[in-house]
Amino acid sequence: MNKLKIAIQKSGRLYDDSVKLLKDCGIDLKNGVNKLKTECDNFPMEIYFLRDDDIPQYVEDAVADIGIVGENVLYEKNKKAEIVEQLGFGKCRLSVAVGRSEVYEGVEFLNGKKIATTYPTLVRQFLEKNGVRAEIHEISGSVEIAPGIGLADAIVDLVSSGSTLFMNGLKEVETVLRSQAVLIRNERLGADQQALLEKFLFRIRAVKKARNTKYILLNAPNERLKEIIGLLPGMKSPTVLPLAEEGWSSVHSVLNENDFWDIIERLKAAGAQGILVVPIEKMVI
Ligand code: ATP
Ligand code: ZN
Repeated sequence: MNKLKIAIQKSGRLYDDSVKLLKDCGIDLKNGVNKLKTECDNFPMEIYFLRDDDIPQYVEDAVADIGIVGENVLYEKNKKAEIVEQLGFGKCRLSVAVGRSEVYEGVEFLNGKKIATTYPTLVRQFLEKNGVRAEIHEISGSVEIAPGIGLADAIVDLVSSGSTLFMNGLKEVETVLRSQAVLIRNERLGADQQALLEKFLFRIRAVKKARNTKYILLNAPNERLKEIIGLLPGMKSPTVLPLAEEGWSSVHSVLNENDFWDIIERLKAAGAQGILVVPIEKMVI
């Protein structure tokens, strides 16, 4: 059987989360000395470690069947590769930033200006969409220093917290693209690869669901059981078990991470006690 070849970033911001995702999917990487490529003991997968910029091309050319890359890179490179799944990490935005003292009132500001970026394609599309004519100055790194040294009037770069911009005297004024890491695939996979990808995707989805969900256990006075159960969504409906102590029950359920604090407060108000919240490793519905 042919192995499923996956390309991931060899080092950088996507590396740790990509490797963690594989591990959480039960795929053990061999820590070989060969830094370009490694295999797995327990899944027919071969892992290639590459620069993120090269991953879309490798997937288009079927050197790798699938890859993990930021949407920003995928759209910039404009290669033939399909997104199969959003992975929920590597979140950032591609933003326009200008000097903090500039008076910025809208995209017209950029008319006739010089914009430094490592994303010329995405910037060109953004300018066209907004009917702005500006000069794009492509540079390969340290974009944030360009305005300070007089190389550009504005920049378009990746931002997560904004602290790099702040340190360089810049302010974020427009979002060009919101991005996260995605799993991409070659458009024409063989039958073996297709089957392995389905298997891998099934695991990824179980891991993603589990990451967003917590398991909750609590004790409830029987007279308020109905009210408490009403607050818990559960996979089907919560499990209720009698406690040794008369008049009390133990209630087990699952909660979405986002609703978590809100629901906990309401549970307490409804008389729930001994609330335990534990992480879930995998979740298959
Ligand atoms: P490579 O050596 O692989 O070319 P790189 O320097 O281009 O690495 P990194 O800085 O490691 O890339 O970023 C990889 C990806 O991580 C980005 O393309 C983007 O999708 C994502 N990312 C998430 N947050 C940020 C951020 N604050 N700044 C830059 N990239 C981010
Ligand atoms: Zn890169």
